[in-house]
Amino acid sequence: MRCPFCHGLENRVVDSRLAKEGDVIRRRRHCGGCTRRFTTYERVDEVLPMVVKKDGRREPFDRQKIASGLKRACEKRPVSIDAIEAVVDTIERQLQERGERELESREIGEAVMRELHALDAVAYVRFASVYRSFRDVHEFMRELEDLIAERRRKPRPRRAARQGGRRRV
Ligand SMILES: [Zn+2]
Repeated sequence: MRCPFCHGLENRVVDSRLAKEGDVIRRRRHCGGCTRRFTTYERVDEVLPMVVKKDGRREPFDRQKIASGLKRACEKRPVSIDAIEAVVDTIERQLQERGERELESREIGEAVMRELHALDAVAYVRFASVYRSFRDVHEFMRELEDLIAERRRKPRPRRAARQGGRRRV
């Protein structure tokens, strides 16, 4: 995005809001060249893929959602807001570059976890637990039920218990 003041190309997004209708993103950008700020408007469906949620509903990619999740994960960690914004930029760019019309929400979660893993280990673990619990409560319960049902059908082989002698922690 070219700066309207100095025409430089180096700028970063400092704030990003989705219009009420959900199809336009208003972005405040900070120019690294002249340090001025300017605003851009982008249509979501031309810029970023729609996010397909687990239940099949589609919603526009929401940068704020990712940023706030990351900020929560990085609370009291030595991670600057700039670093977080840079991570969100990276993820957004990766998603754009895929050039797909739709993306599963899972893929976004995984992209976030990848970036966060490189950024801060503690924040990564925090985000992973929060993300997983948000994403998967129902899924998890279903899987658990399946697992229990499966175990009832075929009990665990005794051999394993006799062999190891290791204690489960
Ligand atoms: Zn500029």
